[in-house]
This record gives sequence, C-alpha cells and structure tokens, in this order.
Amino acid sequence: MNLYNRYNLTPVINARGTFTPLGVSRSSTITAEAAAAALQSFFIITELQQRASEAISAWCGAPAGAVTHCVASAITLSISAVRTGLDPERIATAPNLPQVPNKVVLPAGHAVNYGHEIIQDIHLAGAEAVLAGNENGCESRDLESALDDPQVICLLLVSSRLTRGHGPDFNQAVKLAHARGLPVIIDGAAQDMRVEDLLACGADCVLVSAHKYLASPTAGLIIGKRDMVTATLAQEKGIGRAMKASKEAIIGVLAAIDERLELDIGLWRCEQDHKLKTLADRVGVIAGLTAQTLVDPVGMPFARLAIDVDANGYGRDAGELASALRDGTPPIYLMEDRLEEGRLVLELVPLTIGEIDCIGDRLEELADGY
Ligand SMILES: *Cc1c(COP(=O)(O)O)cnc(C)c1O
Repeated sequence: MNLYNRYNLTPVINARGTFTPLGVSRSSTITAEAAAAALQSFFIITELQQRASEAISAWCGAPAGAVTHCVASAITLSISAVRTGLDPERIATAPNLPQVPNKVVLPAGHAVNYGHEIIQDIHLAGAEAVLAGNENGCESRDLESALDDPQVICLLLVSSRLTRGHGPDFNQAVKLAHARGLPVIIDGAAQDMRVEDLLACGADCVLVSAHKYLASPTAGLIIGKRDMVTATLAQEKGIGRAMKASKEAIIGVLAAIDERLELDIGLWRCEQDHKLKTLADRVGVIAGLTAQTLVDPVGMPFARLAIDVDANGYGRDAGELASALRDGTPPIYLMEDRLEEGRLVLELVPLTIGEIDCIGDRLEELADGY
C-alpha cells in the first residue's frame, strides 16, 4: 500500500538520523510483519514481557530487561521505581509521595534537550533535578557534593552526542553513587550498539530506544538489575499506565533483537562505508563542497558525512543549501546543528543507495551555474 498517496502525505529523505519528527527509523520487513501479526492477536502481556526480558538478556548479558513505551517514559518510570519500590500503595499514589525523598543528581552537561528537556522526565516522576558541575564539565568532587544529601534518590547519566562539557567518568560516577547506596540510571537512548559497554560501568540500568538503530516499532528498553526492571514495570499499575508498551511493540522488539543477534556487524559496517563513499565521491566533484567522514563522538560503530560549504564556490552558504534541500521535492532533511561553521552533517544509516543518489543529484542541481 502506498501510504503517501492514500493519505496525501509527503515522502521525505531522512539524512538527519533517528529524528522523532521524521519517524525515527525504518523497520525491516521481518520486524514490520511481526508487529502487524501481533495487532491481530491476543497475548498474555506478562508473558510477552517475560520473553522480552529473556531476549534482552541473551542479547547483552544483563540479568533482566523490559519494554516501555519509549525512553522518555523509561526515564520517568525508572525514577518513579526508585521512589516506590514494589510497594503497591506507593505505586498507586505516585508521583504524589511527599514523604519520599525526590532529588535526582544529573551532571549539568547531561541536562540535554532531545526534542524536550530531559529534566521534564524527572519532574513527571515527582522528582527534581540537582545539577552537578557546570556546562564545562563535571568532576568527581562536583558529583560528591551533589550526592551528599539525604534527599537524593539516584544518579542519572546520559550517554549521547548531545551532552556538553567533559566528564564525569562513568565508572567513577557509579562508584561514588553506589558508595552512598544510590542506584545509577544511564540514558543511552541512541546507544543500543554499545549497551554492553554502558552496563560494564556497573550502572543499575541502561535505557535504550528500541525504535532508533534497533528499528523496532516505538519502544524503550530498560536493561539491567532485576529489582530495578521489576519495579519499573510495576509502575504500569500507577503512572506507567500512560506509558505502557503495546503488544505490537513488544513483538516488534523481539523480532528486532532476533535480527540484531544475527547481524554480521563487519558486513554492516562495510555497507555503511560504501554509502558514505558513494556520496562523498559525488560531493568531491562539486565546486565549493568538500566531504569528510566524522566518527560518532560517543562510539557507535558508524560515521556520518560532513559537507563543508564554501559559499563563494558553491553559490549558496550552508544555511541556504540546507533550506533549499528541505524545500525541494522530495524534501531532504539533514543535521543542522553546525550550519554556523558552514557544515552540513548527514547520517546515511537508514538510506538506500537510490536515496543517496537523489541527494547527490540535488547537491549538483542546486550548485551555482548548474
Ligand atoms: C532519543 C533520545 C531520548 C528519547 O528517546 P525516546 O525513546 O524517543 O523517548 C532520550 N534521551 C536521549 C539522549 C535521546 O537521544
């Protein structure tokens, strides 16, 4: 079925990465078919979550896992879980628990905005954020002084290309929190290919978006210690009702994890390199444009393509080129956070060679004197 025709929608080329306003990712046919079949079936949902936990353990070695609606909800629910434990009364009353401590320590540079402020996820759990350090960085001593407060309930760390400043070292941060009996939650939403690395620092749980590079239907994963996972899932009898995973999402996650287990990562990396080279070669012969590959700053195993725009040579500056690409048919979206440096950044992971050729064609057509 052509959804674009049927519902009068605009086809887009998404070189902007796992971007929520563009639909995040593309599921494989196997995952899409599994999710579609789930929609026509009934299940014992606790059994689905049990299978998801087993699949997550088999995938990354963690003791347990569960599926939530997304990572934004997993942040709220895991913090609420620290406040309620498995106490049914607390779960039913959250987030209104005036007697329960509520401060969450977050390095200042980890207070990211991924479409909204992460701090709002903390507030939804009835908690408040205590920022450690400043925008330039967070040292161990900054964390220690923030953690030394009886109202603190946990430490939240973010592993993302969006964080600012240096530090803290994750191993050290986990030690400081655990020395005070405080659990550690890591938001690694776009870091599903590095879950094992993130768990290795000893955190109590790592939160991952299953709809980003794992490409399942919309879902978040909480991965880690069993108590933490169980108490997070138990929030579905409370505030988690509004953030539950659907049956089609859990089945989609199971299918996507199966595919990840079978993925030949060497071959996958070759495919990504080939896409980058295809576009870089085309850019290389256009006057005023220079292409360069950028490794992922946090360590995901693929690169992005930076295109530096010389306005004199090309006839438009980077900002003008980005808007012209967006205004064309089909619209082409790319990362725009470095336009001021004259740089466009493209993520090619979900794109076909046909779409990459289309980007190359448009870069040529938009050049001065084409
Ligand atoms: C994408 C993202 C989220 C939100 O993930 P969802 O699963 O879409 O809710 C949270 N934190 C970071 C750092 C992200 O990149």
